[in-house]
Amino acid sequence: STTDHIRNFCIIAHVDHGKTTLSDRLLEQTSTVQRRDMKAQLLDSMDLERERGITIKSHPVSMLYQLDGKDYLFNLIDTPGHVDFSYEVSRSLAACEGALLLVDAAQGIEAQTVANAHLAMEQGLEIIPVINKIDLPGAQPEVIEQQIEDVLAIPREEAIHASGKSGIGIDDILEAVAKRLPPPRWTEGPCARVLIFDNVYDTYKGVICYVRVFSGTLKAGDEVMMMGTGQKTIIKEVGRFSPSMIPEKELAAGRTGYVVTAIKNLTEIKIGDTITQASDPASTMLPGYKEVRPMVFSGIYPLDTSDYNKLKASMAKFQLNDAALVYQPESSVALGFGFRCGFLGLLHMEIVQERLRREYDMDIISTYPSVVYKVKLTDGTIKEVHNPVFMPNTDLIEYIEEPTIRATIHTPSSHIGDILALVSEKRGMCDHTETVDGTRVMLVCTLPLNEILIDFNDRLKSITKGYGSMDYEIGEYQQSDLVKMDIMVNAEPVDAFSSIVHRDKAESRGRVLCERLKEIMPQQMFKIPIQATVGSKIIARETISAFRKDVTAKCYGGDISRKRKLLEKQKEGKKRMKQIGKVSIPQDAFIQILKTS
Ligand code: GDP
Repeated sequence: STTDHIRNFCIIAHVDHGKTTLSDRLLEQTSTVQRRDMKAQLLDSMDLERERGITIKSHPVSMLYQLDGKDYLFNLIDTPGHVDFSYEVSRSLAACEGALLLVDAAQGIEAQTVANAHLAMEQGLEIIPVINKIDLPGAQPEVIEQQIEDVLAIPREEAIHASGKSGIGIDDILEAVAKRLPPPRWTEGPCARVLIFDNVYDTYKGVICYVRVFSGTLKAGDEVMMMGTGQKTIIKEVGRFSPSMIPEKELAAGRTGYVVTAIKNLTEIKIGDTITQASDPASTMLPGYKEVRPMVFSGIYPLDTSDYNKLKASMAKFQLNDAALVYQPESSVALGFGFRCGFLGLLHMEIVQERLRREYDMDIISTYPSVVYKVKLTDGTIKEVHNPVFMPNTDLIEYIEEPTIRATIHTPSSHIGDILALVSEKRGMCDHTETVDGTRVMLVCTLPLNEILIDFNDRLKSITKGYGSMDYEIGEYQQSDLVKMDIMVNAEPVDAFSSIVHRDKAESRGRVLCERLKEIMPQQMFKIPIQATVGSKIIARETISAFRKDVTAKCYGGDISRKRKLLEKQKEGKKRMKQIGKVSIPQDAFIQILKTS
C-alpha cells in the first residue's frame, strides 16, 4: 500500500541510558540536521527536564532514509518518562508501531526500562532492543542480552549493539527500523481518524497539536470535529517537524506531524482526542481517550504578600503552556492571598513549583498537598473537598471517601519483605504477586493516593537501592475513617497546618507537627500551648515557655551603632511575622514546617 515506506517509532529507556544522544545521532545520520547545527541536544532542551531526567514536551521528528533503493519516512516520537504523565506516555506510544528499547551496556536493565517496555507491549508495539554505550570499558553486552531475554522475554539475538556517542551500530538501528518494524496500522478506515498525542501552545500560531493520522487525510481549510469534546474547528495548517516546522499540503494516513487549528486555548484541546472530518465523521474514536483530572491539590502563595499580582500573572501565563494545571484564588489566615492549584501528580506539582521559581522568578511557598475527598453529608448530598479547611464539621458528615491507586511495583525479590511492610504502613493491600524472573517480583497493590503523595516513591527507591519502580493508575474511591486534624497555637487554629489524616495516624502526625512547631517557634512573652486537635479532642500538646526576648542584652550597653543595627534587624524580622491571635509566628516557621512535615 501507499504507506509501506512509513515507520512511526519511539525510543524508550531508563534515564541516562543515552536516549537523547542516540536520537540526535539518528537525525544526523539521516542528514535531517547537520553536525554543525547540533550544538545543543535537540530533542531534550529544558533545564529542569535535564536535571530530573524527564522529558515533558518534545516534538516528533521526521527523517528520510534510504535502503536498497527504497525511500523511507521515519517519524521518531518522543515520550515523557514519568508516572505522573503515564496517560501522555500511553498516547505517544499509541501513535507508534514500534519502539527502540535502549539499555545501557554497563548499567543493565533498570526499573524504568521494564515499566516502559511493558507499556509498549500493552500498546502492541514491536520492540527492538538496543544495547547502548557499547564503547564503555565496563560494557557487558552478553550479560545485558541475557537480562533482556530473562526479564522481557525478548530473544537475545534481536539485540543490536550500539553507541550513540561513537556511532557504532547506528546504521544497524536505522536498517532494523526499516526492516523489522511494521508499516502503519489501521490505515484502511473509510473516515479520518487522527490521534492527538500531545499539544503545545505557541504565541503566534496558538495551539499546535502533535498528531498521528491513522486513516483519511487532513489539510488546511478542512472543517474538523474533536470526537471527545464534540468541538468543531477549521484547520489552518498541517505539516511535519524536520526538525523545525515544515508546512505540507496534507497529512495522509500513516503520517505523523502537526496540526494548527483555529483554537487558541490549550485547555480546549484534549490529549488523546480523535480528530475527524466534520462533514464525514468516523463512527468510533480511537481507543484510549480519557479526561485527565487533577488528582493532587496544594496552595501556592507568594512569600512576600505584595507579590500576589505578579504571581497571578505568572500563573495565567503558565497555564497557557500547561493545560493540566488548574488553579483558583484562595486565601489563608497564615499565608495571605494565593492560589489553590490542581496537578496530575506529585512530580507535576514539583515541576510547576520549580518552574514558577526559576522561569518566572517567583518566591513561593506551597501548602501540604491534598487529594480530592468525597464527603457524604447527613443531608444526603456529596461534597468534594480538596482543601482541609473546607472539610465540614464532623456532625454533618455521614462518611468520607478517598481516592485509591492501583499500583504496579517492580522490586528485586530480595526486598519483597520490606516493600510489603511499606505498603502496609501506607494502608495498602497487596492482592497479586508475580515472579518476573529469578531475581525480580511484581506486586499489584491498592493504596490510598493520599499515602503515596509524600515519600512513597523515595522510600521505594531507597529500600530497593534504586532498582524498584512503581507505576500506577487511579483506582476507585473507598470509604475510610478519615478525620480533619487542626493545629492550634494559643487556642487559635492555624489554617495552613490543617490536614486530613486517617484516624489511626492522627495522633502520631499531630505529635510530630507540635514538636516541630515548638522547635521552630521563637519563645514569646507568655506561655503558649501548641495543640493538635481532632474535633474538640486534643490529641497532642506542647508548650512554649515564656521568655522576654532582648537581643541587645549581649551588647553590654556599649556600642550604640551596633545596638541600633541589631534593633533594625529585629524590626526586619517582624515584617515577616504572621499574627495568629495574640501570637506572632515567623513566616519562616510556616515554611520550615510545610517543607518538612
Ligand atoms: P538520556 O537521559 O537517556 O537522554 O541520556 P543522554 O543521551 O543525555 O546521555 C546520558 C549520558 O550518557 C551523557 O553523559 C552522555 O554523554 C552519555 N552517553 C550517551 N550515549 C553514550 C554512548 O554511547 N557511550 C558513552 N560512553 N556515553 C554515552
